[in-house]
Amino acid sequence: MNFQNTLEFAKQLDKKDELKHFREMFYIPMMFGKECIYFTGNSLGLQPKRTQDYVVDELEDWASLGVEGHLHARNPWLPYHEVFPRQLSKIVGCKENEVVVMNSLTVNLHLLLVTFYRPSKERYKIICEAKAFPSDQYAFETQARYHACLPDRQGFDPDEAVIEVNPREGEHTVRTEDIIAVIKQHGDSVAVVLFGGVNYYTGQLFDLNAITEAAHSVGAYAGFDLAHAAGNVELRLHDWNVDFACWCSYKYLNSGPGGVGGIYIHEKHAANAELPRFAGWWGYTKATRFKMEKGFEAMPTAEGWQLSNAPILAMAAHKAALDVFDEAGMDELHKKRKWLSGYLHFVLNDINSSQNEKLIEIITPANENERGCQVSMLMLKNGKDIFTELTARGVIADWREPNVIRVAPVPLYNSFEDIYRFGCIVNELIS
Ligand SMILES: *Cc1c(COP(=O)(O)O)cnc(C)c1O
Repeated sequence: MNFQNTLEFAKQLDKKDELKHFREMFYIPMMFGKECIYFTGNSLGLQPKRTQDYVVDELEDWASLGVEGHLHARNPWLPYHEVFPRQLSKIVGCKENEVVVMNSLTVNLHLLLVTFYRPSKERYKIICEAKAFPSDQYAFETQARYHACLPDRQGFDPDEAVIEVNPREGEHTVRTEDIIAVIKQHGDSVAVVLFGGVNYYTGQLFDLNAITEAAHSVGAYAGFDLAHAAGNVELRLHDWNVDFACWCSYKYLNSGPGGVGGIYIHEKHAANAELPRFAGWWGYTKATRFKMEKGFEAMPTAEGWQLSNAPILAMAAHKAALDVFDEAGMDELHKKRKWLSGYLHFVLNDINSSQNEKLIEIITPANENERGCQVSMLMLKNGKDIFTELTARGVIADWREPNVIRVAPVPLYNSFEDIYRFGCIVNELIS
């Protein structure tokens, strides 16, 4: 299709959009008396209108039932988390016994590394992308130090143990062939390859399948932090043979600030009760959990990694959001996501080409298969001023030092008109 940078065209696309009524299911923040252009669903997804009801239901049941709610609430709390595997397995592409909702993201990343990062003197490296999200960097660094298995009990020097794959000189994103080359180059010294599914800064979607294959070819595990991928891009974790993954639920998954996280563990590992882990009572075999006996017996599924009983209020918000995903369907969401990001690329390129000099460089891959919703705009001139003005004109986007504006139109609640209007404002500001 030939896109046009006009209001009429954007409205036409909205009219044809089969998901357009989903916008009504969300609260769109207001600025200056009208709905803002909300392009930060990659940072904090908007609140579904039904969330309040879901949370209030649990507050009511707690008020009227007290502890009896564990068994007798309308949605009994004891098995509350068991509703999620059906929904999440469609979002991340896995079997239902491979996924569980628990804790928050960085906590889960550490817990998964406890299981999968078992460095020895010979095999101890973690390979990741350069500019991984800071929390992940701190996790890798401190995991390396934590493993004081060498005779001097010093742990590993993160500078030697954590290997970052960089973009080539003059490029912004990392080439798959370079990732594979680095993995092969470090060979059997690699313990774990751990990439973001989608890099938070550039919006680059990595080739999870190829990275997993390369990791396995040197005898390493492959894991992914899907914070920016879950609910955004197509994932087939099981088919790609990914060993483990984790994500948060408050970005594309719209489950509220600090919402509960999720993990995936391939069933060949999930069923392996011998794998080391930090255990808690919620990971204990269900039938005998309440005998409260000594000696941990792991459940033979991802549930075996749970530690604590479930945070029901956070899970109610998660349920509300995932029910919306269910109703929309992942295929429809992916279809619209591609149209939205394609249109945004078109509008920004159109603006760029009407200027005498290039003022915006899009550092997100142009190839639709290498990106999700997010488009990262490297501002070549007056970036910070333009960003401040965007906010003053009712656009909620996101600024990353030193000079990148990230925008992410998401298929559940953004429209093509949002993109057209955003383009008009950007055009005005840079002209
Ligand atoms: C958002 C994000 C986090 C945040 O971690 P929390 O533990 O949820 O605070 C971590 N890693 C990545 C890659 C992220 O995008």
